[in-house]
Amino acid sequence: MRYPCVEISLDKIKHNTREIVELCKRNNINVTGVTKVFCGEPKIAKTMVEGGVQILADSRIENLIKLKEINVPKMLLRLPMISQADEVIKYSDISLNSELNTIKELSKKAVEQNKEHKIILMVDLGDLREGIFDEEEIFFVVSEILKLDGIKLIGIGTNLTCYGGVIPKYENLSKLVKIKMNIEKKFNIELDIISGGNSSSLYLLKAGEMPKKINQLRLGESIVLGRETAYGESIENTYDDCFKLIVEIIEIKEKPSVPIGEIGMDAFGNKPKFIDKGIMKRAICAIGKQDVDLGDIIPYDKNIEILGESSDHLILDITKCEKNYEIGDNVEFKLTYGGILKVMTSEYVKKNFV
Ligand SMILES: *Cc1c(COP(=O)(O)O)cnc(C)c1O
Repeated sequence: MRYPCVEISLDKIKHNTREIVELCKRNNINVTGVTKVFCGEPKIAKTMVEGGVQILADSRIENLIKLKEINVPKMLLRLPMISQADEVIKYSDISLNSELNTIKELSKKAVEQNKEHKIILMVDLGDLREGIFDEEEIFFVVSEILKLDGIKLIGIGTNLTCYGGVIPKYENLSKLVKIKMNIEKKFNIELDIISGGNSSSLYLLKAGEMPKKINQLRLGESIVLGRETAYGESIENTYDDCFKLIVEIIEIKEKPSVPIGEIGMDAFGNKPKFIDKGIMKRAICAIGKQDVDLGDIIPYDKNIEILGESSDHLILDITKCEKNYEIGDNVEFKLTYGGILKVMTSEYVKKNFV
């Protein structure tokens, strides 16, 4: 085995996906599986499909390209770059949009490629990331989209709890439903989809407060970490350790807890502060800031305290550990969402599927 590595349990991911898909199904909601946190790794994406997601979605075209052999519709989550319009048409079936000029370019490329590209128009309900904020603008953009060839407007959607931290509620999501009905009336069209957000919307199901007409959620974190993200509550009967980081110890020494000499700046230009805890048993592991941030790893051994990190070194206090660690031993960590994202992105962290 080579280290550092991230051990990915496909069985646990499939289990989590099934549980969450079932929960959504009971509320007439289809699940779009979001693959960006694991960089669109096809084995994991395929597992999500086996677990019942109907669409695969990612923010980056590069990741959707990796998924092209998997036979379900692909959705581009981040608003398309005009410069990538050609690839957006080629590798995604659906994209989330809010800019008319981009949609016009997509239309041009769709006609060139003889395809029909589906669009979900994004509405900003107050989180202040993507989406049209002004209701009149929504109607204007819809009227323009309807004139375009190669483009089909299939619904509207929103994204919350990403920038502004705004929590989805019956009230704000009902506004989305109302806008959808107004569009249908005004233009005499039918929209199939109301895409009601990400893993932060899941708690509304349990609370029984999801507006009835919301019929799609785009879920990533809840599947990989088994928790909703409005309040960070875990979801019943799911795993929180589908991804496990394993690193190797390269030094163990008894050393003081405070550096010796005048304290200048650390490797990242910050002036570190230290508390004197006397002599401690310190272990250095071969992983660093380039691969994961220390705030994103949680040791399985509860007696380990994380002391610090430079680009390529992770320093642990193992004074209180019952286990007698030796050079070459492994230390295992659970990961946060940011942790999974970083280790999956780092080419130095091996990916092992179990
Ligand atoms: C990342 C993302 C999601 C998924 O978010 P999770 O919190 O991982 O469920 C959904 N929609 C959009 C637009 C996103 O960018």
